[in-house]
Amino acid sequence: MLRQYELVDRVLDYDPDADEALLNRAYVFSLHAHGGQKRANGDPYFSHPIEVAGILTDLHLDDETIATAILHDTIEDTVATREEIESRFGASVARLVDGVTKLSKIEAQTESERAAENLRKFLLAMSDDIRVLLVKLADRLHNMRTLHFIPKPEKRRRIAAETMEIYAPLAERIGMYEFMKEMQTLAFEQIEPEAYTSITRRLAQLKEGGGDRIAKIGSGLKLLLSRSGIETEISGREKHPFSIWKKMQERHISFEQLSDIMAFRAIVPTEEDCYRALGVIHRRWPMAPGRFKDYISTPKRNGYRSLHTSVIHAENTRVEIQIRTPEMHAEAEFGLAAHWAYKQKPGGLSVRPETQHSWIADLVEILDTAASPEELLEHTRMAMYQDRIFAFTPKGELIQLPKGATAIDFAYAVHTDLGDQTVGAKVNGRVVPLKTVLENGDQVQILKSKAQAPQQAWLTFATTGKALAAIRRHLRAAERDEQVKLGRKLYDDIVARLPATLGAGALDQALVRLKLADEPTLMQAIARRTLPDAAVMEALMPGSGGADVARAMPPQAGAISITGLTPGVAFDLADCCHPVPGDRIVGLRRPDAGIEVHTIDCEGLSDAERADDADWVDLAWGDKAEGGVARVSVEVKNEPGALGVLATVIGGHKANIINLRLDARDSAFHTNTIDVEVRDVPHLMRLIAGLRATDTVNAVTRV
Ligand code: MN
Repeated sequence: MLRQYELVDRVLDYDPDADEALLNRAYVFSLHAHGGQKRANGDPYFSHPIEVAGILTDLHLDDETIATAILHDTIEDTVATREEIESRFGASVARLVDGVTKLSKIEAQTESERAAENLRKFLLAMSDDIRVLLVKLADRLHNMRTLHFIPKPEKRRRIAAETMEIYAPLAERIGMYEFMKEMQTLAFEQIEPEAYTSITRRLAQLKEGGGDRIAKIGSGLKLLLSRSGIETEISGREKHPFSIWKKMQERHISFEQLSDIMAFRAIVPTEEDCYRALGVIHRRWPMAPGRFKDYISTPKRNGYRSLHTSVIHAENTRVEIQIRTPEMHAEAEFGLAAHWAYKQKPGGLSVRPETQHSWIADLVEILDTAASPEELLEHTRMAMYQDRIFAFTPKGELIQLPKGATAIDFAYAVHTDLGDQTVGAKVNGRVVPLKTVLENGDQVQILKSKAQAPQQAWLTFATTGKALAAIRRHLRAAERDEQVKLGRKLYDDIVARLPATLGAGALDQALVRLKLADEPTLMQAIARRTLPDAAVMEALMPGSGGADVARAMPPQAGAISITGLTPGVAFDLADCCHPVPGDRIVGLRRPDAGIEVHTIDCEGLSDAERADDADWVDLAWGDKAEGGVARVSVEVKNEPGALGVLATVIGGHKANIINLRLDARDSAFHTNTIDVEVRDVPHLMRLIAGLRATDTVNAVTRV
């Protein structure tokens, strides 16, 4: 285990301005907080955060990050609180530790690929300070290094799978290839133990059989380049077992067929040297087709730069060679962390405040400079996630919601039944109102009762389509039940008023006559009074209610017929748009008010359209429909006798003024609203044309 002074020395080594006292306080605090806790291998628990901090010193991270690493499990695993951390170590460290704690609370649902994808996005979204993510990755790496101490094989496999699916891709995403490779190797060993063993054994056999081929090829390469005057540092390695396994899977080939298991790295002083070295290598050995990549002129999205080539070295052995400068190399190994360390070095000046920004800026830049359509798509998806939040069930299941979503949205997102039965919610262990807006990382527990039903009030704070639709559906159904109940009472009343006792099957016949689907629909129509009593009587017992039917019709009924309406249903021509025959019309069924007939473009409809429960009726005028009251606005010159002229023109067109109102008057014009009875739309159009042709009239519009 790293000692306190060793850790501090390491940090001071690369950052002489580091806050030594901060690190010492963090060390002591964490040591006391974890107290007698033990790791699975019997080591004191405290060895874990210290090793995590040690991993991060390899990345030359700042003192706050190192302190965060030392403290990263204190909130989660000990009695320490965020407030305590804040008062002792400042707001910045407290925020970082809190961030890591939130990430740690997540239990991956690794069975589902989508959940893993969500979780990766979530981790990125939560890590608005990238240092949080780095501490989490180092934490995971150390847990993987000590994974074999965990006795339960299922637990080991679960952690390994999680690492493979979530943390290794994340490390790759931010360019930390060393982290990625080590995580993959350790996870691979757990997940595919047989494949791992056989691949590592084959690699060992190859080494024995061929002598030290890597050393031989490596020194040949170095000699070749130095003869051309290029000073080179060569390192060779076998590819790591998991990447070999992946290649075997992808290409459906055996280990023997895999020809390029050796990879070399040539580190040369400058960018020009990279291209010169490439030329020298290609002149010496034939290049394997399709394997050359120039990531210097076109870096990968995560900033990776290097030249890649594969050459056929000897005996059909392909060798991969990467050529890069020391800067490119550091970046490739430790991604953004290295990038940052390099920036930090010159003059040793403290760049802490802007450091954080450049970190984020770097990440954003990487995300912005997408190199392929897939990458762009992925980036777009990332941007989409900006309007999302992620919350968790008590079991750790990840629930994705739009920003601004409330506890009731969460309940419906988990399950419609849960939403319907919600009586309360706990967010992070505290009971909160259902209208509480959730935040990223909240853990939400929904309290439910079978006796509960969705409430009207929920509509005011539910935000997701799923929740709103479910609540409305439920409220509509409840309303319908209520109406059917009421309708049944009224129906019994109607039946009692019939002149004779009803025969069997009379109700079914009435339904046919009224063209209604079923009994509840009839009861509902009776309750809403869209069906007059007399019409029901008539349908139940023909001849019994005939007189009432005529009485129930609206006054215009004699002149108007509208197809698409059940006979006897009351309707009104709407006051807002004054439809006349020839207008395209639509019916809006209102509870307790019959059907309103509107022109299809009536502005008054827009409110009703938005209401989800609008009950539309498809209507058309009957062949013989005639007569209606249209409303027109007429602007006339302000001169004596103007109204008389209007009356004459309207009368001349055989139309009838029903109502006239003076709306506005100034020195030159006055505007009148006139309700005029016309036969149909063509009649109205002729009248309007006639009015417009009159000198006195300035303008005419139908309202
Ligand atoms: Mn930990």
